[in-house]
Amino acid sequence: MLTIDGSYGEGGGQILRAALSLSMITQTPFRLQNIRAKRPKPGLRPQHLTAVHAAAALCNADVEGAHEGSTQLMFVPKEPTHPGTYRFDVGTAGAVSLIFQTLLPPLAEATEPSWLILTGGTHVPWSPPYHFLEQVFIPAVTQLGWQVNLKIKRWGWYPRGGGRVHATVRPPRPAPEHIEWVERGELKHLWVLSAASNLPAHIRQRQAKRARLRLQEADLLPHRVDVIDAPSPGVGTCVIIIGTYENGWGAGYALGKRGKPAEQVAEEAVAQFLQFHRSSAAVDPHLADQLVVPLIVRGASWAFSTPEVTNHLRTVIWLSTHFIPASITITEETERIIIQCSN
Ligand code: ATP
Repeated sequence: MLTIDGSYGEGGGQILRAALSLSMITQTPFRLQNIRAKRPKPGLRPQHLTAVHAAAALCNADVEGAHEGSTQLMFVPKEPTHPGTYRFDVGTAGAVSLIFQTLLPPLAEATEPSWLILTGGTHVPWSPPYHFLEQVFIPAVTQLGWQVNLKIKRWGWYPRGGGRVHATVRPPRPAPEHIEWVERGELKHLWVLSAASNLPAHIRQRQAKRARLRLQEADLLPHRVDVIDAPSPGVGTCVIIIGTYENGWGAGYALGKRGKPAEQVAEEAVAQFLQFHRSSAAVDPHLADQLVVPLIVRGASWAFSTPEVTNHLRTVIWLSTHFIPASITITEETERIIIQCSN
């Protein structure tokens, strides 16, 4: 049984989720200590418990310590992951994307298809928004041979949640021998999404107008601007900017809240995107940490460039190599960092 220190590096929920994915795939039992030690309220919160219970359901695992506030967890998979039809409710506004990313690796490697129906937050803070999964994460893992389709049925905002996402996962294509996302090439497509639910139309229109203006000032002309009245049981607003390059992806994402002007939401999303665009890296810094498990699982030799090594990235590299030995090097260049693995 592996023993993992959950206080390492970022010391948050990501260590737990990556450990669950890798445990399911490699059938390795683990004991996690000091869970989320670096968060203001350490231990398992409801959204982490959903991930634990969902993972346990997929591989019929024995679990100890799965209760709210717990700082210790034991997880022992008893069977290979069962593909099938599953419904999980992350509760209130827990991020659907984080549960999806936890369950995807073992399902994407399975020899039969699976269908997931996930309920919870689809556009909530500190997690990939649904459209980041759809337009950035899925295209990247598709290049690794995974076959996934996503659909959003309802949007879930903080605090109400109630968003709904359907995922179809089919057996994988063979893994490529080598993956290289280092030179990103030209910007092929720039997408601006301005969405709001149950708020006056001028909010989403003002967000879109300001985003377009700021991008134009940076000599960037969006190929598509979508202004969406998003179906949701709750109230919320966001701007998402997604740049698809010949060989890379970058995004900007900001959420609105009461008292925050629509223009400011756009400013934040555009600023985040431009920071990436002005680097010479190919892989968005959030995507970078999210790709480590898929890359290591697919076993290919790979390299990617990213603007910075975040704590999340360092932490997930450290965690993953506990389960699957891999020699990963980090090389700093002037305007980007190269992460490389030659198994
Ligand atoms: P905790 O519950 O301990 O606070 P957490 O479970 O929310 O943590 P983190 O460990 O903080 O999870 O990991 C959050 C994940 O969400 C990371 O993979 C990070 O890259 C991703 N993420 C956060 N913000 C964005 C964003 N704007 N766009 C895309 N991905 C994001």
